[in-house]
Amino acid sequence: MMWEDKRYLSFNYEMKRLFNSKVIKLSLDGGFTCPNRDGTIGDKGCIFCGEEGSGEFAASRSLSLEKQIESQKELLSKKWSEGKYIAYFQNFTNTYSTYEDLKQKYNLAISQEGVVGLAIATRPDCLTEEILELLEEINKKTFLWVELGLQSIHERTIKLIRRGYPLETYDEAIKQLNKRNIKVVTHIIFGLPNESREEILSTVKYVANTNTWGVKLHLLYIQRDTDLHEYYKKSPFHILTREEYISLIVDSIEQLRSNMVIHRLTGDCKRALLVEPLWSLDKLRVLSGIDMELKRRNSYQGIAWEK
Ligand code: SF4
Repeated sequence: MMWEDKRYLSFNYEMKRLFNSKVIKLSLDGGFTCPNRDGTIGDKGCIFCGEEGSGEFAASRSLSLEKQIESQKELLSKKWSEGKYIAYFQNFTNTYSTYEDLKQKYNLAISQEGVVGLAIATRPDCLTEEILELLEEINKKTFLWVELGLQSIHERTIKLIRRGYPLETYDEAIKQLNKRNIKVVTHIIFGLPNESREEILSTVKYVANTNTWGVKLHLLYIQRDTDLHEYYKKSPFHILTREEYISLIVDSIEQLRSNMVIHRLTGDCKRALLVEPLWSLDKLRVLSGIDMELKRRNSYQGIAWEK
């Protein structure tokens, strides 16, 4: 099975199918914080979280949202001269504010020229009834999805990375968002400290059986000056090799439902901040390695999906 030249359903493929155009994400900083950093749930954040709240490529929060959108459009037009845009509230927790503040920011973002949709990254424990209602309203106006950082289903890992909410909270969030026809994208991280290959694949299998519209499969990278960096210095753990990562990703693609949209297949860390794995800087090599391995196996997304 093929989706144009890919053996998996990529974000680009799906956007082109839906919008008949290249769709470009504009990474925005809505000026939010996170309950896992401000002391409400925790004050140190997830172990891998950097200063920018896991959004190192977002526009600067010192700019207004309009200016951020403008500057991102300008920056990205060097790579893609034309396309439609998704406003993407990426860093920190983008439903962690008052109803009025969120409403104003979401509406402002979707009213900008060329913006055809909205993506909101958040925590599943930051979706109150009021916020869900707001999202439902926005979902009727534009193409919306909500991203949830699950990362792993394993309790030992969850404690270690200080995610700060149990698996049931993720399940409940999916249920509530599905109920309102809001699309969900789930993030999984590959290579978390001391997780086995089987554990990683069981997280993938779990997600494959939830009603999530899309997935982001990330490679764990160790970023300078994070708690994960400190942890790694004191208790070094196995860093996936490129070959191990490619093999795991291909196993995962096979296990995902064939209609799940794959938004991402690698990690993304600023070169200057990256400690490990250095091979991840060559993203093209990783992506072509995935394509080659799928071809070698004569395989494709969904081939091994099972309930
Ligand atoms: S939920 Fe996101 S912003 Fe909050 S601490 Fe974790 S990675 Fe950082």
